[in-house]
Amino acid sequence: MTNNQFSFEFFPPRTAVGERRFWRSLGQLETFNPAFLSITFGALGSGQQQSLTTVAQVSAETATPIAAHLTFEGSTRDEVRAIARNFLDSGVTRLVALRGDAREDAELAAKRGYCYQSVAEMIDDLRSVHDFDFSVACYPEVHPHARSAQHDLQVLKDKAEAGATRAISQFFFDADDFARFRDSAAAAAIDLPLVAGLLPIRDFERACDFAGKCGARIPQRLHSRFAGLDASDTERVARDEIERQTDRLIEHGCHDFHVYTLNKTLNFRQLKSSVPASGSACTVVAA
Ligand SMILES: Cc1cc2nc3c(=O)[nH]c(=O)nc-3n(C[C@H](O)[C@H](O)[C@H](O)COP(=O)(O)OP(=O)(O)OC[C@H]3O[C@@H](n4cnc5c(N)ncnc54)[C@H](O)[C@@H]3O)c2cc1C
Repeated sequence: MTNNQFSFEFFPPRTAVGERRFWRSLGQLETFNPAFLSITFGALGSGQQQSLTTVAQVSAETATPIAAHLTFEGSTRDEVRAIARNFLDSGVTRLVALRGDAREDAELAAKRGYCYQSVAEMIDDLRSVHDFDFSVACYPEVHPHARSAQHDLQVLKDKAEAGATRAISQFFFDADDFARFRDSAAAAAIDLPLVAGLLPIRDFERACDFAGKCGARIPQRLHSRFAGLDASDTERVARDEIERQTDRLIEHGCHDFHVYTLNKTLNFRQLKSSVPASGSACTVVAA
């Protein structure tokens, strides 16, 4: 039997209540032996200092490996390198290397000449700071701004060739979409472990909003199941759905999962089989 491996993503809390929820959730989820905890990075100047502070605090408090997200859009190369050094000073040697979302304005246009052109270039350059373990992002349903699905895969391949260790997927709700994406990646000779991104649904409207922004399809079945539910029924159905999705992914041979926790506690059946390891079981295998 293959063991499942989980990582958990958090965002830096911004209020005293949020901070209490963050630490409670982190403490609970650590009991499932995650492969790592990741902390998001506010793009384009918003919340970057909070990310640095949160990463330093979590790194000081826990023995679980931390992966710090780092985006380059809107920052110069020197700024990105300085942030990477700052993470390193906090003892963090894993990065989730990202472009981040672009915003068109004069200040950003002026900086663009000093930005990286791609995540692959960023990875290559940050090796001058440290030999970090780099995770990158991938998109089972294609990034909403992608020129084409083929180009999306080419960008992923470039990141793999730059030495990324794993690609964490955007969340999706149909396990078969992820399996098809994995097969396309294999057909494109992308040699990179793919980690399935899971978004437990706590608030269906909010999940629809997130999904709309990042191009994730919500199957009609979920609309029918969540329609008109109160909070406790939503929780019950959400748990059932995440277990169903995870079971289906396991049937497809995936054992490596990244959970977008939204800083909330979680408990579903497959978490109990989680093992603390750094490898990935969801290797790319041709269909
Ligand atoms: C696991 C994960 C973690 C994330 N964490 C954060 C975070 O902490 N902070 C944050 O701000 N955002 C985060 N994001 C969102 C991410 O920044 C956006 O999806 C962003 O639009 C693309 O970043 P990327 O690193 O995937 O970029 P890329 O890999 O460069 O782009 C992804 C795809 O988008 C297309 N594309 C988009 N923009 C361009 C462009 N300018 N030129 C060419 N092609 C382009 C390409 O098809 C490409 O394959 C995360 C996403 C994921 C999946």
